[in-house]
Amino acid sequence: MPELPIRIGQGFDVHAFGEGDFLMLGGVRVPHTQGVLAYSDGDVVIHALCDAMLGALALGDIGRHFQPSDPQWEGADSRLFLRQCQKMLQERGWRVGNADITVICERPKIGPHAAAIREVLAQDLGIALDDVGLKATTSETLGFTGRGEGIAALATVLLARP
Ligand code: MG
Repeated sequence: MPELPIRIGQGFDVHAFGEGDFLMLGGVRVPHTQGVLAYSDGDVVIHALCDAMLGALALGDIGRHFQPSDPQWEGADSRLFLRQCQKMLQERGWRVGNADITVICERPKIGPHAAAIREVLAQDLGIALDDVGLKATTSETLGFTGRGEGIAALATVLLARP
């Protein structure tokens, strides 16, 4: 069978809220009444996106490539992971066609930060702003996100040949 010129991937990530006064979301510092418990900077948007990119290439998950036990990732800027995933797919002859991301939380409000987040992601992926979708939803007060115990993100990417 000839190889299809496109591939699709999905990613999902969760972090629990903890001490702090900001969240890193898509590489943007978002003020909040809490932070997240994480080994890296706990950026659910980038972690979900990286998993989608790795998944599209059947390369496993982010934890396999950036092991939480590795001290070099303590407090790491997740954009390092994103750029590394971008490099991995480029080396294999792919580019991100577009990405679509959903953030799930009751708070903080994502809308005011969406443009800045899209800009960071588009820049790191070398694609146009219009190729990065970012949406947010609450879970209607249900479940861990609804109770304000943490934040989750979903990402889907389409890879294409350059
Ligand atoms: Mg994570």
